[in-house]
Amino acid sequence: MGRRILVTGGAGFIGSHLCEKLLNEGNYVICLDNFFTGSKNNINHLADNENFELVNHDVTEEYFTEVDQIYNLACPASPPHYQNNAIKTIKTSVMGIINMLELAKYFKASILQASTSEVYGDPLVHPQVETYWGNVNPIGIRSCYDEGKRCAETLMMDYHRQCGINTRIIRIFNTYGPNMDLKDGRVVSNFIVQALRGEDITIYGDGSQTRSFCYVSDLVDGMVKMMNNPQNFIGPVNIGNPSERTILEFAKLIIEMTNSKSKIVYQPLPGDDPAQRKPDIALAEKELGWVPKIDIREGIQKTIEYFDKKIKENN
Ligand code: NAD
Ligand code: UDP
Repeated sequence: MGRRILVTGGAGFIGSHLCEKLLNEGNYVICLDNFFTGSKNNINHLADNENFELVNHDVTEEYFTEVDQIYNLACPASPPHYQNNAIKTIKTSVMGIINMLELAKYFKASILQASTSEVYGDPLVHPQVETYWGNVNPIGIRSCYDEGKRCAETLMMDYHRQCGINTRIIRIFNTYGPNMDLKDGRVVSNFIVQALRGEDITIYGDGSQTRSFCYVSDLVDGMVKMMNNPQNFIGPVNIGNPSERTILEFAKLIIEMTNSKSKIVYQPLPGDDPAQRKPDIALAEKELGWVPKIDIREGIQKTIEYFDKKIKENN
């Protein structure tokens, strides 16, 4: 028989793929979301499944239901969204994880926290290894997200040491794919939507900053592997695709793959924007036997098809 699994942030981009995978594996899935950045459209196709339950709830408020596992994803992930109400963002990470850890404690459930490469800040170690403690500005415009996620990692480890909770921390690096919102504001969705509409492609800064993009199916495979691995490996573990490129190279790839006539324009670089980011995934490979399978062109092609359809539906 399947498990009872709670996915907070389950109506969001990654959460919706995770809910679908967990249902396909025969589990009962409770998707908890306040729809701040998530959407019912992402999970509509799951609504008729008798093993799926949707709960409209804010993770900063206590929540009580019997569960075997908790995946804690609730938190806006796109910089413009998490900066829109910075106080709410940090509350979501900190109060949210306390509420979820208390639930895990009561029911002796396992809990996985969706942490982030942002815990490394603007990294001075490249590629980033899990033993690196990071270079984070505690008072900048990204701090509500970075420090909230760092504090959530601390709470995970403290509940593990103090209360014996079975905790798992994964550090997610830039992930993309279908179910991203048209107005999400992150680079993958912005560039593809701009290219498909023939609008200018907005590069922030000179485009020399790097990112490494992971397709969403690879990420959710890694998440589930991490949750279900034997208890002695609790992380943190990086999950991402180490194929690194500059944002300018990425813009050119999107223009080529969409066959777009869009021009590149340059806009100011937001504060504290990390100059480079690439995961070292040796630990994930060793402990979980996990490596990403989808290469950038395959993943971007699927994402272009998704956005193309979505733009046509919206017209
Ligand atoms: P997303 O914005 O699409 O999803 C976040 C979900 O959380 C949304 O459905 C939103 O409505 C919900 N949410 C936000 N605040 C909430 C609250 N207070 N109570 C209940 N629900 C709330 O973003 P995503 O890309 O799917 O990210 C999911 C998780 O993965 C986040 O925790 C994010 O920090 C983490 N992450 C994502 C990436 C990435 O590249 N996508 C990278 C690192 C970490
Ligand atoms: N970026 C950009 N144009 C955009 C959106 C983002 O040049 O329209 C840049 C952004 O400044 C950053 C990188 O692309 O350097 C990745 O941004 P994103 O918001 O996707 O995620 P981040 O990794 O910064 O959290």
